[in-house]
Amino acid sequence: MNKLFRFPGGLRLAGRKKLSNTTTIRPAPVPAELTVPLGQHIGAVPEVLVKVGDTVGKGQMLARPDGYVSAAVHAPSSGTVTAIESRPVPHPSGLSAPCVVIRTDGEDRWAELPAPISDWEQRDPAELRQRVREAGIVGLGGAAFPSSVKLNPGPGAVVEDLILNGAECEPYISCDDRLMRERAEQIVGGLRIIRHALQARRCTIGVEDNKPEAIAALREALSAAGERDVAVAAVPTRYPAGGEKQLIQVLTGREVPSGGLPLQIGVVCHNVGTAAAVYQAVVEGRPLISRVLTVTGAGVAAPANLEVRIGTPFSALIEYCGGYTPEVDRLLMGGPMMGFAVQDDLVPVIKATNCVLAGSGAEFPRPAEALPCIRCGACADACPVSLLPQQLYWHARAGDFDKTQEHELFDCIECGACAYVCPSQIPLVQYFRYAKSEIAEQERERKKADLARDRYEFRLERLEREKQEQAEKRRKKKEALRRAQEAKAEGAGGEKPAVDKQAAIQAALKRAEEKKAAKARASAEASNEESD
Ligand code: SF4
Ligand code: SF4
Repeated sequence: MNKLFRFPGGLRLAGRKKLSNTTTIRPAPVPAELTVPLGQHIGAVPEVLVKVGDTVGKGQMLARPDGYVSAAVHAPSSGTVTAIESRPVPHPSGLSAPCVVIRTDGEDRWAELPAPISDWEQRDPAELRQRVREAGIVGLGGAAFPSSVKLNPGPGAVVEDLILNGAECEPYISCDDRLMRERAEQIVGGLRIIRHALQARRCTIGVEDNKPEAIAALREALSAAGERDVAVAAVPTRYPAGGEKQLIQVLTGREVPSGGLPLQIGVVCHNVGTAAAVYQAVVEGRPLISRVLTVTGAGVAAPANLEVRIGTPFSALIEYCGGYTPEVDRLLMGGPMMGFAVQDDLVPVIKATNCVLAGSGAEFPRPAEALPCIRCGACADACPVSLLPQQLYWHARAGDFDKTQEHELFDCIECGACAYVCPSQIPLVQYFRYAKSEIAEQERERKKADLARDRYEFRLERLEREKQEQAEKRRKKKEALRRAQEAKAEGAGGEKPAVDKQAAIQAALKRAEEKKAAKARASAEASNEESD
């Protein structure tokens, strides 16, 4: 058995998972219209490959990755592209984003898929990464970071530990639990492919100890695959044990440095759902067009875990689960601790949607008005990252964002443990999200200003360069003109003036001599006459 460690803080929460985890995963129906957002992941928005009016097959690539940190998106079913436009998407901001809209044809006909790679053990890791990239796989635990990037440790990097995250610590959510129970062989298959791609030395699957069936199913699948070197560790049920950094700490005793990545301490962590998707992409050639998610809460009649096509509206899932109950009060994407409210149930399921939570007023009472901070320190005790939430709160509230960064704001995983225990009911996480978005905005503005300054300086340089080039041109032109004049002058008899001058001198000398001779002759004649 693995030696386990503890992370600081954390909470014991009522799981409320039985609402949804007692029945098997069912496929949700394909809706009449699928709205597939292009930017469902962290990183660059992919480049659209289709146009309005195109007929698409299930699994056809709609947009290809644009840059290293980017992910492809695919048609979740067959049909016709009816629009490529901005539509509301599930996001805390409530904003719209570009989507490809498909009117489904009911045939659910596959497009031509890439060939399965059954001999993946013989393939180069780069080839497997490329397959994962083309399949559009992102972290399905909620982070939605492109998985192909996490499969590339980079030259010289050694992955000591590959960890599969099956902790699923957030209340109400049970999709990973059901996935581990029902599709453990796919998860184990994906784990082996990822291990090969990373050349990882050790592998551990971390599962909270409140999921004994999942632990048993994984152990059985490992045994069936002849995998004796992979451990399934039952980690204590303590929120947020499923946080990447917290699970790494529990399983290895090592801490990811502030602002750093797990790879810096030789660890890579993937979600169990991501591992199953990697298996499907490599061994079956199937891109990521659906995911398993939980529909739950007292606000929906029949909570369940469903396999849902990306792009399906939340409303269709609620309807499939028996509709809203009279108690429904709010709709969240994600769990009660880290999820966020969505204003409209027409927003589509995206790759990061692990839960659609229709909560009642009794489950989630409206927060009372916040009272002043009494500096009790309960928030700091609960923080799993050892931050000082009350300090962060003061600085965020005062708009002193430099100070929030000094207090490691960006290490905050927004788990909500601090707000949960705060006796003054201060919505701490909202302040932290606000501070992060303000800092991001300032950073964007700074980059914009830098860009504008660079452009201005470049323009000045260009003008100066053009000025110099023109001056040089003028000088050359002048020089050329002078040369041309000289050449012209030469062409008109270059040496002649000198010759003329010489001739004139000669002529003058001749004339002078003739004159002299004439004079001598005259004088001689005169003398002769006198003597006669
Ligand atoms: S728990 Fe609330 S009241 Fe207590 S120190 Fe933290 S922010 Fe202040
Ligand atoms: S939300 Fe952030 S500050 Fe609050 S407990 Fe979680 S990690 Fe700590």
